[in-house]
Amino acid sequence: MAPQRMNFLSFKDSTRKLAAADSVAVIGLGRFGTSLALELMETGTEVLGVDINEDIVQALNGRLTQVVRADSTKPETLEQLTIGEFDRVVVAVGSDIKVSILTASLLLQLGVPVVWAKADDEQHAIILDQLGVHRVLSPERDMGRRVAHLVRGAAADYLEIDPGYAMVKTAAPREVQGMTLREAGVRARHQITVAAYRADSGQWRNAEADTVLQAGDTVLVVGPTARVEAFAQLR
Ligand code: ADP
Repeated sequence: MAPQRMNFLSFKDSTRKLAAADSVAVIGLGRFGTSLALELMETGTEVLGVDINEDIVQALNGRLTQVVRADSTKPETLEQLTIGEFDRVVVAVGSDIKVSILTASLLLQLGVPVVWAKADDEQHAIILDQLGVHRVLSPERDMGRRVAHLVRGAAADYLEIDPGYAMVKTAAPREVQGMTLREAGVRARHQITVAAYRADSGQWRNAEADTVLQAGDTVLVVGPTARVEAFAQLR
């Protein structure tokens, strides 16, 4: 039986069971919400998906633990879905700011311990933050910034941990090859730390002071953004 056609009691029972199973509720199954929900399923976390659009719900039926067509701005709907019993809920509605704010506010009133919400612009992010949403996500802004660093630099991958501090994946430059990291003195010379390395298509390993890097190795370096970017430019 499709979950959204269950009668009220069995439905409430099943979402309650899901809430108790350390699962995540994702409200809004647009591009971002769907990708998040499917990735959670893929990595072994059960998901309750909620969307107001019947076609979206039908398309995801059977691919999430439970998927239901509902309007998340209605307190009685959230109550029926036992959303207040979930430990983690993500509001992945970004384009409709009113729906996003109303939903987030209701979740906070219900006492959901961790509420994440996606913001489509800066003002939206500020309001969600003011409401008390625990984690405000700005995927487009973050991705734009990330790509800017990748396009500009030589890094193979880039992750900003916090403004001004980043992790970069890059090729081990010539000046650190053939000697230990201690001898190469990368910390003192470049103010970065080589956290891990991978020999040509091999396994990632933690880097130690006596690790010797070779031509063709890939390294993961952490440090101030400007420093890791400068390190990634070395050949
Ligand atoms: P993306 O940019 O990731 O595609 P959107 O913000 O455009 O995200 O997606 C919004 C999703 O939220 C849509 O699938 C839409 O049907 C759903 N949605 C909009 N309003 C509600 C609501 N009141 N309750 C539940 N889901 C909603």
